[in-house]
Amino acid sequence: MRLSRYLLKTLRETPADADTANHQLMLRAGMVHQVAAGVYGYLPLAWRALQKIERIVREEMDAAGAQEVRLPALHPIELWQESGRAAGMGDILFKVKDRRGHELVLGPTHEEVITDIVRHSVRSYRDLPLILYQIQTKFRDEPRPRSGLLRGREFTMKDAYSFDAGSEGLDRSYQAMAQAYRNIFDRCGLQTIVVEADSGAIGGKDSQEFMVTAAAGEDELLHCPSCGYAANVEKAAFKKLTPGTTAERPPREKVATPGCATIRDVAALLGVPPERTIKAVLYTDETGGLVFVCIRGDLEVNEVKVKNAFKAKDLRPATDAEIRAVGAVPGYASPIGIRREGVKLAVDDSIVSSVDYVTGANQEGYHYRHVFWDRDFMDKDGKPWLGSAYYQDFAKAQPGHGCPKCGLPLEGSRGIEVGHIFKLGTVYSESMGARYLDTAGQEQPIVMGCYGIGVTRILASAIEQHHDEKGIVWPPAIAPFRVYLVGLNLEQEAIRREADALYDELDKAGVEVLYDDREESAGVKFNDADLIGLPVRLTVSPRNVKQGVVEYKVRTAAKADLVERQRILEKLTPSA
Ligand code: ATP
Ligand code: MG
Repeated sequence: MRLSRYLLKTLRETPADADTANHQLMLRAGMVHQVAAGVYGYLPLAWRALQKIERIVREEMDAAGAQEVRLPALHPIELWQESGRAAGMGDILFKVKDRRGHELVLGPTHEEVITDIVRHSVRSYRDLPLILYQIQTKFRDEPRPRSGLLRGREFTMKDAYSFDAGSEGLDRSYQAMAQAYRNIFDRCGLQTIVVEADSGAIGGKDSQEFMVTAAAGEDELLHCPSCGYAANVEKAAFKKLTPGTTAERPPREKVATPGCATIRDVAALLGVPPERTIKAVLYTDETGGLVFVCIRGDLEVNEVKVKNAFKAKDLRPATDAEIRAVGAVPGYASPIGIRREGVKLAVDDSIVSSVDYVTGANQEGYHYRHVFWDRDFMDKDGKPWLGSAYYQDFAKAQPGHGCPKCGLPLEGSRGIEVGHIFKLGTVYSESMGARYLDTAGQEQPIVMGCYGIGVTRILASAIEQHHDEKGIVWPPAIAPFRVYLVGLNLEQEAIRREADALYDELDKAGVEVLYDDREESAGVKFNDADLIGLPVRLTVSPRNVKQGVVEYKVRTAAKADLVERQRILEKLTPSA
């Protein structure tokens, strides 16, 4: 391709509104055009790279035995009502109305549509297993579209769905997809780690995410360098050590703690370590109910775990008025003596019955000490909370906490989720009636899995992971072209002939070349070559032509080599 004829306008300056390296570089390298927030046009350079990614994805999916389909982007809302997600997905769903006033959804994912197809086509165990996939545009009204293609409102996803008779079949399909995913990301040149993921309010069983390690990632990850445990912070567990237990149970006592509204102040005043205090963290859910979380003073709450436990769609910090309305006092709150109506109590399992704690007394400037949660957590009417409280893990794992498997300290990092595999089980087949007849002729729900890859997000994260101060450093397999051919002083007829001839020779041999035949200075051309970042740069210049050589530079190498003109093609084939 001749650059003089190509739609590619590079920018010297970094666009002010682009916050991440991939977004800045994609704009500067003329790859994308933003049409609206989170909506992009992919220009020729980006489209070539995306097609390469799609080819890799297709090859690996086909090799794993999956069959390609293409499902519609317009879905009747009734399908989403059947699964319960018309409401469950909240404002993420784009909805449109047709001329008759019928509501439709612009597909953000395709579990509903594929389950509808399969329930009409699968009859018996003989029709299973099946893995179906597609590469398609998805629509999600993201609250914060950002970072260019990393989080769009319209983006390309590869989504696959498996259908099995029984959970062993699902395990096999899941493993096949997990292996295909590892192959895809390896071939795309991405360093990923696989982490245990939250499976959300849907429930489901195993779920893992493939994370591109990058500082710009929105996801917080924890991993154990000793045993290999790795999880998204949304899901991560850790070893909770119990501070000194006591055999005696002194009676609860109210103590004045004036001006001590933080755990640290109270702990210091009363001379107890923060892990012997209980703090209250209060939320309001979408129904207006109060979610009252009690957790050890030295720990933080993991809101995802809270949301899942109560199947809450939305949680926000409770206001002072909402806290007071149930009889609790902000800064001095505990479940002791509050109203029960409209309150959901969550007690983190870091709080154990053998430890003597300090907690709020629901009175300005007062705390209780010698609180044993199983004994002292009573409501306003003296009825114990024990039994009605949700008692489980609600805590956020942090770097330094003990690994849940081996106990050694966890390390933290950031990642970009590029893929997600998920054992759905029978959630959709039950809600939507997708069944098969087993060998005994009995109807059974089909056991499903779903598997997603962000194709456009792969492109963005590849750039996020592979760039330097000069520009993009393409992983070879997804580079839009293999070679950037720079012609210098092309106004000299003899040089232009040489450069044109080299371009034609490579092009005929099937080497993908972007030929910079523009009337620009050497400086501009070399800067653009680095910015666009193709794996190899070749330079034809008057001096090189005189010596019968071509300058050959690998994007990642510090310096260039001179290669005999006749040996260039040989050096570039077979392709790297
Ligand atoms: P996230 O947590 O980043 O919002 P998700 O968990 O909602 O993503 P999935 O439903 O698991 O996403 O979608 C499958 C894949 O699609 C993700 O792993 C990701 O690579 C990609 N993806 C999801 N949302 C977006 C988006 N807004 N823009 C680009 N890619 C996306
Ligand atoms: Mg996901």
